Parts: sequence; C-alpha cells; structure tokens
Amino acid sequence: MTDQTPRPDFPIDAVLGSVRAAVKPFPPAVMFELADRGFSSLFHQLIACIVSVRTREEETLPICLRLFGTAPDAATLAALAESEIDRLIRPSTFHEQKAGRIREIARIAMTGYGDGMPCDRNVVMALPGVGPKCANLALGIACGLPLIGVDIHVHRIVNRWGYVRASTPERTLEALGEVLPERYRVEINRLLVPFGKQVCTGARPWCSRCPVRAECWRVGVTEAR
Ligand code: SF4
Repeated sequence: MTDQTPRPDFPIDAVLGSVRAAVKPFPPAVMFELADRGFSSLFHQLIACIVSVRTREEETLPICLRLFGTAPDAATLAALAESEIDRLIRPSTFHEQKAGRIREIARIAMTGYGDGMPCDRNVVMALPGVGPKCANLALGIACGLPLIGVDIHVHRIVNRWGYVRASTPERTLEALGEVLPERYRVEINRLLVPFGKQVCTGARPWCSRCPVRAECWRVGVTEAR
C-alpha cells in the first residue's frame, strides 16, 4: 500500500456509528461546542480556530468565551486595541501574534463584508493566519460546506484504522477527500477529537476498551492499554 491508498471496504458507516455512541458522554470538540453555545457564525468560528492553534481545548473554550463576551461581533472586536485582545487571549499559545491577526480579520470582516464573512474558501484562505484546517472546519461548521477538518486526532486515528495511509495531516486530508462520504465530512472532526482524547490516545491507546477494535488494523500501534 502506498501513501494515500485507501483501505478497501472499510466499514465507515458502522465505525463512525460506534464512535458516535462512544463519545456521547464526552465534551465535544471546542469549535462545535462554541457553535452549540451560539457562536456558530463563520466569523466566530474562524477566530476560535485561530485561538485554538497549538492551544489545549480546555484552555481554548474559556478564552473564546471571554473574548466573545467582551467583543461579540467584528465591529466591537476591531475597535479593541491589539494589546487588549492580547490580554484577553493571553493563555493561548503565540497570543501576541494571534492578537494582531484576530484584529485584522475583524477589520476585514467589518469593512469588507459588513460584519458577515462570505462562505467562500478563497476569501477565508486569504485571511491572516488561516490555514486549510481552520478554513475547512469553520466553513464546515458555520456554512455547512462538505469540507474535512483534519487535525492531529483525525490524522492519527484514520491512519491507525488503515482507512487511509498518509504520512502528514495534509496528505490525510487529500486521502480522505477521495474516500470519505460527504455526509461525514464535517462530523468526522466532531467525533474523532473526543475519541482521540479519551480512547484512541496518541500514546498507548485504550484498545482494550475500544468499540471499533474489531475493524481497526492498529497501524503503527506498538503499545496499548
Ligand atoms: S483499536 Fe486501538 S488503535 Fe484502533 S481505534 Fe481503537 S484505540 Fe485506536
């Protein structure tokens, strides 16, 4: 099997059904949780994704709630001093750099689009600090576009399953684009982030209590619990 060659006949419907049931008790991935709490616009989702970069989910949620509590829309956020945005998001990794980017996105949203960002991947990808993961996640959650958000959990798990074989998250995104049914393209991130934190962990996954063990090839797993 070569890079990006999918595993034939992988039972994705059954596997995602089992994962869906398994993650019910766990908190959802942070961008989905923010959407559930009313911050579902493309603007809020993009800002949240920037805050989340290299920052733990447990820290990202309160940071975003504090930021949106102070500045609930692009106009208010753009009017804040960069130093104030920096103070509000300070526990986030690279907060100084992110503060400038967040303020610039707010300014672009307000002046270019009257506070409503268009559901256009080219526009979103041109914003400062927005890469493919944030663009896809935000456009998927906010706009319902069938785009896949591949973070480190999604990349690790679908490769362990043998569903795809890809050496980087970028290649996993390409490979999933070939095989993942459209109906799961947004949901897969919602499911696999909590699954990756609670069951299929980076080190020593909990294979003994995993509901999809029978279907999983456990590619690259050398030590498990
Ligand atoms: S069997 Fe192990 S490696 Fe496979 S999905 Fe479950 S926890 Fe992850």
